[in-house]
Amino acid sequence: MNNIFYKRKKHMSCLILAAILITSCIFPLTGCNNELTLTTPISITDYKLNTYVQISSYTNVKKDIISEAVSLCDYYEHIFSRTLATSELYKVNNKETTTLSDELYELIETGLEYSRISDGAFDITIGSVSRLWDFTSDSPVVPDASLISNALAYVDYTKVTLSTDEDGTHHIDMPDGFCIDLGAVAKGYIADKIKTFLVDNGVKSAIINLGGNVLCIGEKKKNTDFTIAVKKPFSDTGEYMELLNINDSSVVSSGTYERYFYSADGTFYHHILNPKTGYPYESVLCDVTIISHESTVGDCLSTTCFVLGADKGMELIESLDGIEAIFMKNDGTKLYSSGASSYIQNQNK
Ligand code: ADP
Ligand code: MG
Repeated sequence: MNNIFYKRKKHMSCLILAAILITSCIFPLTGCNNELTLTTPISITDYKLNTYVQISSYTNVKKDIISEAVSLCDYYEHIFSRTLATSELYKVNNKETTTLSDELYELIETGLEYSRISDGAFDITIGSVSRLWDFTSDSPVVPDASLISNALAYVDYTKVTLSTDEDGTHHIDMPDGFCIDLGAVAKGYIADKIKTFLVDNGVKSAIINLGGNVLCIGEKKKNTDFTIAVKKPFSDTGEYMELLNINDSSVVSSGTYERYFYSADGTFYHHILNPKTGYPYESVLCDVTIISHESTVGDCLSTTCFVLGADKGMELIESLDGIEAIFMKNDGTKLYSSGASSYIQNQNK
């Protein structure tokens, strides 16, 4: 099985595996409509945005372009990070500023839109609760129940107001103690911006993978889609739950297997939190995978559909044009949106 791009790369081992698969097929350059399409991409892998990112271009461009594309992750992290003390969002959350850059305004506005669509099951003001949890710690602990219940008083997206002056300056108004968390939406947005940068610099064929948030530019080569492997939840052996044929589109997953821990008493805790309780959602789903043209939409919808649950989540997908989804339940069964089969490569549906 050649040239598979694993779309979840939380772990370095997966990333290395993908890199090996990519570089294992070494062929000469092939001509294609006067464009040279590489069979071995120019690729950079780095640790950014608290995850492994990889950008691989099949268009023969200078490596500096790819390197600049990777560094855009740092640029956007300094805007969107909830935890980085120098970020713009950090300053907004700490009331050091109420004006917003175009990018932060745009992403908060998008996050609010999905908060509304889900009637608050998805809520970007989850920050006061999510900052109590640390799913990446070596010894994670369940936060104190009283801290969680106090923090819930500061979760309500309807209390956030955005406005723009005549001169174009953006403002945000939200109550003291509120904390916006863009963790569910930022990677998709950043992937879309990286795509724009690469396209502007002549890249016609590439894969942008931000910790499993995948966005493909163009096709792999003429008349050949990229193959994106959606890994099976909780599998460390490289098993996939689906192989997808993707061209100029995004594949994004959300689920309970991405960041989780077991407490001393064996209770399972994952990182998608219920804004009503402050604890992880109890769901029949373990994975939601979205195929969309734009990665921002995919990232927003993957988390939104997860929090909405199987029925309402699929209903939402069916109401949207050009979006397909695959959900996996905890018992291993899969649910497909009506048009998903056209992307599926293997027959194990
Ligand atoms: P990942 O970032 O691992 O790809 P998601 O896109 O599903 O996964 O986003 C999960 C992140 O979203 C959490 O780590 C947290 O920052 C944020 N989050 C958690 N619960 C909610 C929620 N109910 N609404 C909005 N954002 C949430
Ligand atoms: Mg998301």
